[in-house]
Amino acid sequence: MAHFEFKCKDIGMDCGFETSGKTMEELMPKIAEHAKTAHNMAEIPQDVKDKVAKAIKKKMF
Ligand SMILES: [Zn+2]
Repeated sequence: MAHFEFKCKDIGMDCGFETSGKTMEELMPKIAEHAKTAHNMAEIPQDVKDKVAKAIKKKMF
């Protein structure tokens, strides 16, 4: 089973936010919500999305 992890500091943010999920589809809305509330990004710019996608780590159990 796979497990995806995202840490906000991995995209260069000075922020302790971490989240994880079983799928990318589960993870992305959590990241979008965090970006909106914590970083005032109503919409995530494409370059940030690319960074996020690269920063997400997939772990296998
Ligand atoms: Zn953050």
